[in-house]
Amino acid sequence: MVADKQADSNKSDDILLSTQEVIKTALNKLGYPEEAYELMKEPVRMMTVRIPVRMDDGKIKIFTGYRAQHNDAVGPTKGGVRFHPNVTENEVRALSIWMSLKAGIVDLPYGGGKGGIICDPRKMSFRELEALSRGYVRAISQIVGPTKDIPAPDVFTNSQIMAWMMDEYSRIDEFNNPGFITGKPIVLGGSHGRESATAKGVTICIEEACKKLGIEIKGARVVVQGFGNAGSFLAKFMYDMGAKIIAISDAEGALHDPDGLDIDYLLDRRDSFGTVTNLFEDTISNEEMLELDTDILVPAAIENQITKDNAHNIKASIVVEAANGPTTLEATKILTERDILIVPDVLASSGGVTVSYFEWVQNNQGYYWKEEEVQEKLREVLVKSFNNVYTTAQNRQIDMRLAAYMVGVRKLTEAARFRGWI
Ligand code: NAD
Repeated sequence: MVADKQADSNKSDDILLSTQEVIKTALNKLGYPEEAYELMKEPVRMMTVRIPVRMDDGKIKIFTGYRAQHNDAVGPTKGGVRFHPNVTENEVRALSIWMSLKAGIVDLPYGGGKGGIICDPRKMSFRELEALSRGYVRAISQIVGPTKDIPAPDVFTNSQIMAWMMDEYSRIDEFNNPGFITGKPIVLGGSHGRESATAKGVTICIEEACKKLGIEIKGARVVVQGFGNAGSFLAKFMYDMGAKIIAISDAEGALHDPDGLDIDYLLDRRDSFGTVTNLFEDTISNEEMLELDTDILVPAAIENQITKDNAHNIKASIVVEAANGPTTLEATKILTERDILIVPDVLASSGGVTVSYFEWVQNNQGYYWKEEEVQEKLREVLVKSFNNVYTTAQNRQIDMRLAAYMVGVRKLTEAARFRGWI
């Protein structure tokens, strides 16, 4: 257990260090001075909170939570809250930087924020989760709010948790304040299209990438790692467009059929944690699945799946990162040298924060949009952002990740410069 915690902490240090490395290169290439990197390499604000919760057995348990605000030069910070046993301070820091990059890439008036609580929601009752969610909001209430920092769902948090958090914040503020948080249920001011927004954004990136490489979506072979929120919606969208989903996976293994899997059937049978492969005997491992012969590979599960050890064996023409951090920097280099097009996480998974922004706009104006309006606006933003990053990569002869970081960090740095911070 202690060794596990150490491994998680090392992993999050790696994520922070590699994020800082690419930010540094991006700022150098953009011609900004060293002070710009000094400002951008860490969140401007990091709060650690201790949250007492009375558990169902009558005992009090103290949970540790974090909220990181990377940079608010452009506007309020924005980003999800993760409930997970492996949350670490450095992971939350790195994730807040990624949120700044995403907001910059899709050109939202936000900086990045992120929160996390060390807990295992799979082992907690509904009542305990409500108490923890409300306790977290009370603990961070002074630094968050619709004009300061706007939370949202992330790993193992959902619209119910957002609803409790919104209610608690509204009580503290003494008026109904839906713009405090996004990813809410529709009846509490949530936006149409939010639940599937990340996968929709990934799908639009795949469509654009396929146009560049001359790949026809109908009949294209797709491998999806992870069958949770991002992976399952993505598989369904691609399946409905006529692509052949030849493999999907979850934490327990992968299903492979070269003729294409029946995604509707699998969606019907998966559980709420995105597990379905345990119902089948004929499975392959996640490692084998990543190396299958395919046109498109979508890692949509966890970090560090494509590394220097397997990057040489990846056979996909396009790797689209729906997950955060699935490819290491060494692997990025190898894939790029092998002419495999990578659509990096900060671009590919930015559909979620884009529709979260739409939700906040709707809350602020008190006027709600139809599903079609949300989808149309999302498409416009994602197509433009993809092409912006792609053109930057082509013009500067750099990989898509560095190009995305350059596009993402520019607006924030300019805003900080105009404010006289650097
Ligand atoms: P989720 O919890 O709904 O699903 C995760 C899936 O990954 C499940 O099918 C699970 O079984 C599988 N998985 C877990 N461990 C695995 C392992 N070791 N090997 C293979 N599969 C494994 O999570 P999600 O919301 O779909 O998020 C997936 C990824 O996408 C994460 O990296 C997340 O940060 C990123 N992401 C999600 C959103 C969103 O809106 N949901 C937005 C941006 C980025």
